[in-house]
Amino acid sequence: MSFSSDVKEELAEVIPQARHCMIAEISAIMHLAGQIGVSADGGVTIGFNKAGSSLIKKGFTLLEITFNIGKSLKSTDPEFDALVKCLGDLKSPVDDLTLKNPCCRRAFLRGAFLATGSLSDPDKGYHLEFVCDSDAQADQIVRACSDFEISARKTLRRDETVVYVKEGEMIGELLSVMGARKSYMDFENRRIYKDVSNTVNRRVNCETSNIRKTVTAAARQLEDIRYLEEHGMLDSLPDQLREAAYGRLENPDATLSELGAMMDPPVGKSGINHRLAKLSEIARKKM
Ligand SMILES: [Zn+2]
Repeated sequence: MSFSSDVKEELAEVIPQARHCMIAEISAIMHLAGQIGVSADGGVTIGFNKAGSSLIKKGFTLLEITFNIGKSLKSTDPEFDALVKCLGDLKSPVDDLTLKNPCCRRAFLRGAFLATGSLSDPDKGYHLEFVCDSDAQADQIVRACSDFEISARKTLRRDETVVYVKEGEMIGELLSVMGARKSYMDFENRRIYKDVSNTVNRRVNCETSNIRKTVTAAARQLEDIRYLEEHGMLDSLPDQLREAAYGRLENPDATLSELGAMMDPPVGKSGINHRLAKLSEIARKKM
């Protein structure tokens, strides 16, 4: 199961309390993915494009609760009349009056996502989109998102208008607005884990490269001291330098602070570093 279908499955179970919200949600579903057909004998068929099981389930549940529409429907039934009047032209956006309350705009976004939405797996990247048949429908989704401070953008893909959200934080917010609580928690946990582990990885990489630099510097200094030793030059050095040179030869793996502490009297990291650098300088002049 993809993360996207998990979200849809969860959203299919969310049934709003108020009738106005139910109407907003079924309107989104019908305008973005619904089809109504009337046959010659007056029989009505209702179907959904790009239909996944979550969409079909939610669509028929809401049609039944809000308009009392069940299995068999005739074009002469008052229920059909009420449905058509409420929805208006399916090719145009949902009537803005239907979306005047924030609760209804949440329901609208939930219906829109069930009808045309998809979402990438948060472990792979952040991308949520709604694929719309018309530009006006896309604009309505963008406006509804911006009411919740979610910045959605629009782009053309072949003959469709795609509304998309790219930022992880915004996608999390949208999941929460649509009422996908479980998916929201799951998404945020994975997003935060990913951000934290990226930071940790960056830090580890940085530390590794610092360690590598230190090791290379220490190895080079050790080579220089060995060169001085091989050429019998250690004993003619000033006391402080001689002490540092022997200290390093005897403790090739000691850190600068450890090596500094071995000196008599002990010196700090920069003190010992200075002496080792001086030794290298002498060796390099003789090479
Ligand atoms: Zn409402």
